[in-house]
Amino acid sequence: MVLTDTFLIQLAQRRRLHYKICRRCGARNSPDAEKCRKCRSRNLRWKKRELKR
Ligand SMILES: [Zn+2]
Repeated sequence: MVLTDTFLIQLAQRRRLHYKICRRCGARNSPDAEKCRKCRSRNLRWKKRELKR
């Protein structure tokens, strides 16, 4: 369980840093989203943040 938890935490942290933002309404979407979940626009941009070192 501990190993899986660590893996999931690392995955969640990466997922939190990589997501798509809708240019139309500014909603946050999942990384594999093709359309905005709010306004269904395809005008999505990548939001990428580096971890602070
Ligand atoms: Zn939208």
